Amino acid sequence: MKKYDYLIVGSGLFGATFAYRAKQAGKKCLVIDKRQHLGGNVYCENIEGINVHKYGAHIFHTSNKEVWNFVNSIVEFNRYTNSPVANYKGKLYNLPFNMNTFYQMWGVITPQQAKEKIEEQKAAAVESMKKSGITEPRNLEEQAISLIGTDIYEALIKGYTEKQWGRKCTELPAFIIKRLPVRFVYDNNYFNDKYQGIPVGGYNKLIDGLLEGIEVKTGVDFFEDRSYWENIAERIVFTGKIDEFYDYRFGKLEYRTVRFEEEIHDCSNYQGNAVVNYTEKDVPYTRIIEHKHFEMFGAEVDNCPKTVISKEYSTEWKDGMEPYYPVNDEKNNTLYAKYKVLADREENVIFGGRLAEYKYYDMAPIIEKVLKFQIQ
Ligand code: FAD
Ligand code: UDP
Repeated sequence: MKKYDYLIVGSGLFGATFAYRAKQAGKKCLVIDKRQHLGGNVYCENIEGINVHKYGAHIFHTSNKEVWNFVNSIVEFNRYTNSPVANYKGKLYNLPFNMNTFYQMWGVITPQQAKEKIEEQKAAAVESMKKSGITEPRNLEEQAISLIGTDIYEALIKGYTEKQWGRKCTELPAFIIKRLPVRFVYDNNYFNDKYQGIPVGGYNKLIDGLLEGIEVKTGVDFFEDRSYWENIAERIVFTGKIDEFYDYRFGKLEYRTVRFEEEIHDCSNYQGNAVVNYTEKDVPYTRIIEHKHFEMFGAEVDNCPKTVISKEYSTEWKDGMEPYYPVNDEKNNTLYAKYKVLADREENVIFGGRLAEYKYYDMAPIIEKVLKFQIQ
């Protein structure tokens, strides 16, 4: 008999939710994390009374009632609704693409006028694609233009996407842009989901609630004493990098990462919104986050005299940096498939989360996945 039923490597949302469920099922768990804090990428640090999202802005959204009820059973959520604004050459446009954006771009007022404008813009591009025998958009540029036309593509998509991914839109897969909503109503809500919000008191409350009563160790890297950790529990839940688990034997998977430049300002309200995207290629950062707007509304904004902002610079990942976004192109997906064959053969290791599955997951689908898992 080993000391624990489960060793959980990684205290992000996958690991923390798994630990919570395993404890409910009567299992004894130990959670370790190589960072000095719990929570993985949803971790927040309180600066000047503001919960600063240290690994990038996180907005919880889902249409899954079970997931929503589950997270609300751990911590109450506020009514934050994400409605980012795009700044292109000093002019502001609402996101996602909706009647407000179309009015700002072309001065059109009715949905009919907006549709006509977009159709007119798309026609030339679609025609030239047809002539070359292309029936389905082959890359992000073709997908974006056939969705929304050239003006919006040039102003609001091209520069931002090329900064974010460090690759030309013609070299990026079409699916990246498919998830951006296009609406012919005046609605700036970025998400189509039924439920969204931020935990009242910040994400650390969610993680603390999930891990309550569970043994945790921070500042501990599984690979520094692998055989010790492998023998401490009957089973392992591994949420770190899958290629690292297999000593990179087939090669390294690639990621995009983000560098955050944090600034504290002596004013109560810096940009009037939580998220402002800078869609021009020449502005080096992709967006500025003003953290207080996630949790402070109305008079609360001015009652807090300072503000914290983060400028986000998207860069290629190298060893020692935080791996954020898997680059799910053909080369990397093929490499991941090789590791997955090994992972599927493991009897006592469960691979879960965005690093172990090499997949971009939002928070809600991570929780959904753990809730469906049969814990034995
Ligand atoms: P992680 O949070 O990365 O947790 C993995 C943990 O494992 C880390 O704490 C790491 O330190 C630890 N670990 C790794 N290797 C080892 C090791 N060898 N030993 C010990 N510990 C180890 N989702 C949304 O729903 N809404 C958003 O607005 C949103 N915004 C995002 C913005 C950014 C910039 C990023 C990168 C992601 C965003 N997400 C968002 C996605 C969200 O962060 C993920 O869904 C979630 O964090 C995944 O949890 P995880 O447990 O898989 O991974
Ligand atoms: N995008 C864009 N302009 C914007 C915001 C997003 O072109 O102002 C594109 C970009 O390619 C991005 C994709 O839409 O990768 C998805 O954006 P979203 O904000 O949904 O994703 P995230 O930044 O969280 O990956």
